[in-house]
Amino acid sequence: MPETPALTRNLLDYIDASPTPFHAVAEARRRLSAHSFTPLDERDAWVLEAGARHTVVRHDSSLVAFALGSQPPAEAGFLLIGAHTDSPNLRLKPRAELNRHGCRQFAVEVYGGALLHTWLDRDLSLAGRAFVAGAEEPRLLRVGRPLCRVPSLAIHLDREVNDRGLVLHRQNHLPPLVGLGEGEGWLQGLLAAELGVAPDAILGWDLMLHDTVAPCVSGLDGEFIHAPRLDNLASCHAALEALVAAAPARPAPTLVVALYDHEEVGSQSAEGAGSAFLWGLLERLVRATGGSAEDVHRALAHSLFVSADMAHGVHPNYADLHEPQHAPKLGGGPVIKINTNQRYATNAATALRFERAARAAQVPVQRFVMRSDLPCGSTIGPITAARLGVATVDVGNPMLSMHSIRELASSQDQAAMVATLTALFAGR
Ligand code: ZN
Repeated sequence: MPETPALTRNLLDYIDASPTPFHAVAEARRRLSAHSFTPLDERDAWVLEAGARHTVVRHDSSLVAFALGSQPPAEAGFLLIGAHTDSPNLRLKPRAELNRHGCRQFAVEVYGGALLHTWLDRDLSLAGRAFVAGAEEPRLLRVGRPLCRVPSLAIHLDREVNDRGLVLHRQNHLPPLVGLGEGEGWLQGLLAAELGVAPDAILGWDLMLHDTVAPCVSGLDGEFIHAPRLDNLASCHAALEALVAAAPARPAPTLVVALYDHEEVGSQSAEGAGSAFLWGLLERLVRATGGSAEDVHRALAHSLFVSADMAHGVHPNYADLHEPQHAPKLGGGPVIKINTNQRYATNAATALRFERAARAAQVPVQRFVMRSDLPCGSTIGPITAARLGVATVDVGNPMLSMHSIRELASSQDQAAMVATLTALFAGR
């Protein structure tokens, strides 16, 4: 097998460093800081120097990064790329200790549209953030080692399962086994040991589960990526790579990357795409660079938003579920998503903008339309378009096993998406 390209390795490292949206944001900020993007606090008054590059984080799980353009936003607008930091998973309930039949278990809720059966028989671990006494900022936490498992039921106790189909009850069948024993306080004890503090110093947390198996490259020629959370950390990664590549040349428009939490549950939160986070930030950018109230609207009228979220590649075992003329192939390049009922925000004009950038990057483009007899999914594109009133195109790389604990995409497509978004940011 050929050597893994640096970009693929870089993507796998980003995914591995990001078991939760909190980690995805922290890792994005760490990577951008190496390219002179410094943190900006929403609570401060902003004065922005020419060429300023900053990151703004809201509630630890959404991030906006920007690089001011060589022209004021009112003259050259914003070029924006959006993606999301969250993925479907199992999350701990507030009273998370469950003691049943001699087993210690986590009480869990399902976050988003998880493909539940893929969570069975995996080496799971725990990650998230914790609030500790005496510290204002939460601590990131990652146990790392295999810690728990949702064991499947032996076939001898359900002989028809392969023919009838597996039905998992969300309340009864999903609590993972964490240990043997009884009593209370074992979760607090685990967190205290991980964070190196006393158990009563842990005041609160947001914790979730993830697969401990590392992302990898596979296929005859290393053409596949097997990884958790490709939807949508692969798009977050592509947006960050494009920003870092394009910012040094200081193109005329102001470059913006918005990585949102809560897409998988509808984006309606204080830090989700349905919030005023991005709108407020763009307004502040115009004002902090000397623009007027009217300049805010002029800037938005000049702007383009690229909503990057993974797309459904054609599955060779289920090809009839795809629209025959709009079935994107793995390795066939980035996909433009179109839906006449505005489940995607793309129109002919915005599609052309994306295609032009792909052509400049010498990358092929595919188109996705859902079958007319199947309901179409959606993403942050239409939500952001409605919120900002900005011309928007929905795009994404083709993948399989979407919302599985371990998904599949093509490494070639990641390079193509990075090249296209970089060309777009560079004004090509
Ligand atoms: Zn997604």
